[in-house]
Amino acid sequence: MSDKVPCKTSCSAPVPPKGVSRRDVFRTGAIVAGGVALLSAGIAPARAQAAKMPKADALYQDKPKGDQSCANCSLFQAPSTCGVVDGPVAASGWCKLYQKKS
Ligand code: SF4
Repeated sequence: MSDKVPCKTSCSAPVPPKGVSRRDVFRTGAIVAGGVALLSAGIAPARAQAAKMPKADALYQDKPKGDQSCANCSLFQAPSTCGVVDGPVAASGWCKLYQKKS
């Protein structure tokens, strides 16, 4: 049996289950689409902000630790950005997330 509605024109809309009107189907779809849009808008900025660790949590310091410093860390992005620690960092800085550049 076909799930298409026979009509006088060339439409081929799916048939909603018995007891469910097309209006109900479209209303539910609009609500779901609106909810997805709201969730996307609200979650994406929160993820972006939560992506980097605060300096204090990373035990960041403005001076190197031995021969380890941001300048020779693989996460350092010159001139003063880190891929995982929030805010500007100094090339001469260091934190517990240090990863030696290979
Ligand atoms: S992970 Fe730490 S040591 Fe490496 S660049 Fe970022 S702040 Fe500097």
